[in-house]
Amino acid sequence: MNKKPALLGGPKAIKTEPEKLFKWPIITREDEAAALDVLRRGAMSGTEVTKEFEKKFASWQGTQFALGFNNGTAALHAAMFGCKLGVGDEIICPSITYWASALQCMSLGATVVFADLDPQTLCIDPNDIERHIGKKTKAIMVVHYLGHPADMDPIMKIARKHKLKVIEDVSHAQGSLYKGRMVGTFGDVAAMSLMAGKSFAIGEAGILATNNREIYERAIAFGHYERFGGEIKTPSLQPFTGLPMGGYKYRMHQLSSAVGLVQLKYYDQRCKEIRKAMDYFWDLLDGVPGLRPHRPTHPRSNMGGYYAPHGLYVPEELGGLSVTRFCESVRAEGFAGCFPGCNLPLHLHPLLNKADVYGHGKPTRIAHACRDVRQAPGSLPLSEKIGQRTYSIPWFKHYVPKVIKQYAEAFRKTAEQAELLLKDDPGNPPQLGGWHFFKAAKR
Ligand SMILES: *Cc1c(COP(=O)(O)O)cnc(C)c1O
Repeated sequence: MNKKPALLGGPKAIKTEPEKLFKWPIITREDEAAALDVLRRGAMSGTEVTKEFEKKFASWQGTQFALGFNNGTAALHAAMFGCKLGVGDEIICPSITYWASALQCMSLGATVVFADLDPQTLCIDPNDIERHIGKKTKAIMVVHYLGHPADMDPIMKIARKHKLKVIEDVSHAQGSLYKGRMVGTFGDVAAMSLMAGKSFAIGEAGILATNNREIYERAIAFGHYERFGGEIKTPSLQPFTGLPMGGYKYRMHQLSSAVGLVQLKYYDQRCKEIRKAMDYFWDLLDGVPGLRPHRPTHPRSNMGGYYAPHGLYVPEELGGLSVTRFCESVRAEGFAGCFPGCNLPLHLHPLLNKADVYGHGKPTRIAHACRDVRQAPGSLPLSEKIGQRTYSIPWFKHYVPKVIKQYAEAFRKTAEQAELLLKDDPGNPPQLGGWHFFKAAKR
């Protein structure tokens, strides 16, 4: 086989048209019929389909309650309110995540303190949590990043020791297992996106799941006026039924919940095939210098639906080849979706350092804080460097070994020919990654 990189004039490793392999979500006649039924009945703004979806989702997730939302941002906002995050309080959150794991806390008068990540899991590093706890710390936001379960055992231990609430952001990881147990069932409450780009993809939608009745009812009170009535049992909420306490309207669109009911039936089975395909891809690359899978080593943990999968990069093993040059070569081999980095570190964005969003006369991040929680460059070194050590890989939805082999070959060939590619390596730009992943048109 000719091993010359395509970037240097060799033959491409990938010779197939991939569309079908990547298409997501999988929509059948059954989804279409469910959506049409809602449209024809004019039931788009109702709640009866959503309530049925909540019931089935809760039973799948293994929690007592589930509450549908119009998106994941809203579900996480309500989860924060549910945990009584309020004026002056602090929540600890990883810096490498999508903004909606954190930013909503500022509209509650609270603020966020970021912790560094574990470079293997790409999730919050349990060993970097305690140093950020102050007297106003109320909660930890755990993000199971890119489908990888966060290390929940030590996280829950720290939370119990300091009496902190734990919110799990499951937007990337619906169905992922941590040591045999589904993520979203460890903390006090889980909230997640179910938008069209995620692995559980039903449109603009989100859901909250919990075993805690008070959190569930506070989430209802916050943004579900028409469900905030006689059934509410929490005494502190009862005087206010009828109007949303947050002043928000967060109801799920029933086109989404109707599709959700169908998607839920097939979700586990489809994720199983995704994992078979993705694990095969990584197994083909076992032992290739510079490349490491982003997946758990514990035999009973897994990557769920492998949302937006990435690989770990070890440039030292490739003579220092930049991930920028590496990805350029993989793209030339025929995989157009290979880019360096993942989410950019939130703690360095001006919004979290300078912006006065609500007119407090000082930066919103510290408007009510009892200490200056802002975090300068260099404060979270691993989060700040992770862009140089990650790259996107194909997200296979089907197990087609013949084609997956070609994609793996694109990565293998690039790594094995690193020396040739070093010659015109432009190096990495200062920032690698983005504030979000979603490119609607390209999926
Ligand atoms: C997508 C996402 C959200 C927000 O969900 P939306 O449905 O887009 O509002 C929150 N957290 C993470 C980690 C996400 O990836």
